[in-house]
Amino acid sequence: KRAGGARHAVFDPAMKVRATYRGLVETELRQALDRGELFVVYQPIVWLGDHDGAGVGVEALVRWQHPLRGMVPPPAFIEIAEQTGLIGALGGFVLETACRQFMAWRQTLGPLAPQGLSVNLSRAQLCEPHLVVQVQRTLEGSGMPPGALQLEVTESLAAQDDAVRQRLQALKALGLTLALDDFGTGYSSLSSLHQLPVDLVKIDRSFVSQLETSAHHRALVKATVEVAQSLGMGTVAEGIETPGQARVLQALQCQKGQGYWFGRPMPAAALAEWLAARQG
Ligand code: C2E
Ligand code: CA
Ligand code: CA
Ligand code: CA
Repeated sequence: KRAGGARHAVFDPAMKVRATYRGLVETELRQALDRGELFVVYQPIVWLGDHDGAGVGVEALVRWQHPLRGMVPPPAFIEIAEQTGLIGALGGFVLETACRQFMAWRQTLGPLAPQGLSVNLSRAQLCEPHLVVQVQRTLEGSGMPPGALQLEVTESLAAQDDAVRQRLQALKALGLTLALDDFGTGYSSLSSLHQLPVDLVKIDRSFVSQLETSAHHRALVKATVEVAQSLGMGTVAEGIETPGQARVLQALQCQKGQGYWFGRPMPAAALAEWLAARQG
């Protein structure tokens, strides 16, 4: 401010408010990491066909319990974490926590333990040069079997450029698998699916929510499943909220499903109970 008016003339007030807000969240997020206000919840991913209830996977999702503002949803801080460079620390925290939890479940739950763990990777994380080393160290440090770890990336990201593609290949070389998140919402399409180094496609919730009412959306999901299958890729439908949606997806041969109908994202202890209850 002391620098005088000339400098500020290029900013409009809304930009200034946004910048101030970003700065505030950045400071608070930094503290949150230090103070342990961030934690990880886990949402079940289940087979839609008949698999005797076996082989449940989980997706790790970050949560921020703010001392004053309560639960802050990820969309309110992931983007700011990306813009401010905090995403490396945040992503590292989630990966580390989830891998350790996965191994703890193996110890305590035995055959009931989740078979696979999915962790989200944001654009900015994929651009960090030491991401591959970070992932490798976490796998080694936690004892997590690479084959049980899946990293989720978005369409726009996976399609991007050669550098990103190389990094994705380097991650795969560690022995883990890659999932294409939010499929259908980005720019690439079914025809370019074969160019992406992914093992599994996650069909976005926006398609699932209209399955029962829209023949168009059913056709799109059917085509997606068929193309993915023909490329040897797995399929997971996101955001299943009704038994009707689950039935349609099963009829369309979608392999797995995830959504409130099966289970909400929950803390580790609650997930253990969910697994036990499911076993009957
Ligand atoms: P996403 O990766 O697509 O995660 C799925 C989101 O859908 C989660 O929201 C989940 O709670 C929600 N969801 C699951 N089932 C249902 C359902 O049946 N109905 C509805 N309406 N929603 C459902 P959440 O946890 O708020 O996360 C939002 C987004 O934030 C995630 O979308 C992901 O892009 C990002 N995110 C969350 N955790 C992390 C993280 O640890 N790292 C990174 N980089 N991004 C994360
Ligand atoms: Ca995801
Ligand atoms: Ca998604
Ligand atoms: Ca999403």
